Amino acid sequence: MENQNKIEKLKSIRDEVIKLKASPLYEYRTSNKYLPVIGEGSHDAKIMFVGEAPGKNEALTGRPFCGAAGKVLDQLLAHVNIPRASVYITNIVKDRPPENRDPSSAEIEIYGPFLDKQIEIIQPEVIATLGRYAMGYIMKKFDLDLELEPIGKAHGKAYPAKASYGDINIATLYHPCMAVYNPHNIDNLKKDFEVLKSFS
Ligand code: URA
Repeated sequence: MENQNKIEKLKSIRDEVIKLKASPLYEYRTSNKYLPVIGEGSHDAKIMFVGEAPGKNEALTGRPFCGAAGKVLDQLLAHVNIPRASVYITNIVKDRPPENRDPSSAEIEIYGPFLDKQIEIIQPEVIATLGRYAMGYIMKKFDLDLELEPIGKAHGKAYPAKASYGDINIATLYHPCMAVYNPHNIDNLKKDFEVLKSFS
C-alpha cells in the first residue's frame, strides 16, 4: 500500500473515532475536552505496539504513551536499540477510561475494529502487546485462544501467527506501567523486550 493511501486510511479511522457517539467513553471525552488517541509512528513499521487505553496525558495531547508509562516505554525501546520513530504505537481502546480504570469488554468491542483496520494498513511483521488486555484481544484475533495463558506466564514469549497479509509474530509483553508502580520491575520489563531483538 502506498504511503499516501495509508495516511488517508488512518485519517479516516481518526474521523470515525472522533464522532463515535455509540462509545461509552464519548461523553467523558467530549465533556473533558480530551482527544481520542489513534496511534503514531512509522506507517511502514515492522513492529506495532498495542497498549491498553490512553491515560490523562495521552488524552490531553492525542499522543500514545507520552506520560509516565511512555517514559518507561522509551527506556525499554532504548534497551533493545529500537528507535521509537521506527515502530507504530497504538492502543486497543482509543479514548481514556475515567480514572484510568481497566477497559470494559464493551469498550474493547467497540474500539477493536479500529485496531483491526490499523493492522491491515500498517501490516506489521510483529505485534507486541503491552499488558493482558492487548494480549487477550490480539491472541483471540489471531486464533491463538488455546495458547492463551495468564500474563504472568505468557510475558516475554513470541507466538507465530497468520495475518491476512502473511506470517507474523505476536510478542506478549508486560505493560510498562508495571515499572511506574514499582521501579524494581524495570528489569523484568527489559527482559521481556529482549524477545524483540530476534525480529528487529
Ligand atoms: N497506557 C496505555 O496502555 N496506553 C497509553 O497510551 C498510555 C498508557
